[in-house]
Amino acid sequence: MNGKVTVIDKGQVRVHSYAAPDNSFNVTTQIIETPTRVIAVDAQFVLAYADEAVAYARGLGKPLDRLIITHAHPDHFAGASRFGAPIHALAAVREQIAAQPNGQDPTGAPYSIAQVTPTVEITAGSQVIDGVTFVFEAHSGGEAADELVIKLPEYGVLIAQDLVYNQLHLFLGNNDIAGWQRAIEELAADDAYDTVLVGHGLPTGTEVFAEVANYLADARELLGDDGEAYKKAIVDRYPAYGGAFLIDIANRYLFGAGH
Ligand SMILES: [Zn+2]
Repeated sequence: MNGKVTVIDKGQVRVHSYAAPDNSFNVTTQIIETPTRVIAVDAQFVLAYADEAVAYARGLGKPLDRLIITHAHPDHFAGASRFGAPIHALAAVREQIAAQPNGQDPTGAPYSIAQVTPTVEITAGSQVIDGVTFVFEAHSGGEAADELVIKLPEYGVLIAQDLVYNQLHLFLGNNDIAGWQRAIEELAADDAYDTVLVGHGLPTGTEVFAEVANYLADARELLGDDGEAYKKAIVDRYPAYGGAFLIDIANRYLFGAGH
């Protein structure tokens, strides 16, 4: 297997967190195993890694009930059709995906937007699935225009996806550091959780909120009008972090194609 799976056993619920290799920014698919079903969250960028996550999920021997897409960035939805399950998302996220053109994964493999566009709408609030309470929270602003956060309050599991990265440079292309800081404050204020599943990197604990908050404060200080200068400054400050290529991608959004 190219990706890495971390298994967190919470009794009635087991979470299998699939993280892609470095060449796909360690983007995650969360595989939530409830007593009789499997629920997947986010679908990978490289289609072959989606296939790997799906093969792992099918290996659990329970039906793959649904795929939930948290936000409208291709690294989280490009592989969605490979899951062979209904695709769920917030209405805003569905619309943002539907508005995008057909695309290619980083290896050049094509995907059709029609085939990855969610068809089942998630509304914010609590829902019991297979005896497990899922809390769906809609966050606006931050890493993307709209992001879904999923909480399993009975098990202390917070699925933050791209509002939190673990030991990786943050993608600032949405140009909303202040919104991201607000979202982190909201997540950190709820102390009912001990396990944080992230959009990029390995599962972690609530200490990650302070790390992301510090990074955002540093980014706010260092981000001027020169993308290359910012990249050098932030990489100097976080030399152990992976995913420096994410800074290059974000810089193209922030400063245009010349950077
Ligand atoms: Zn992402």
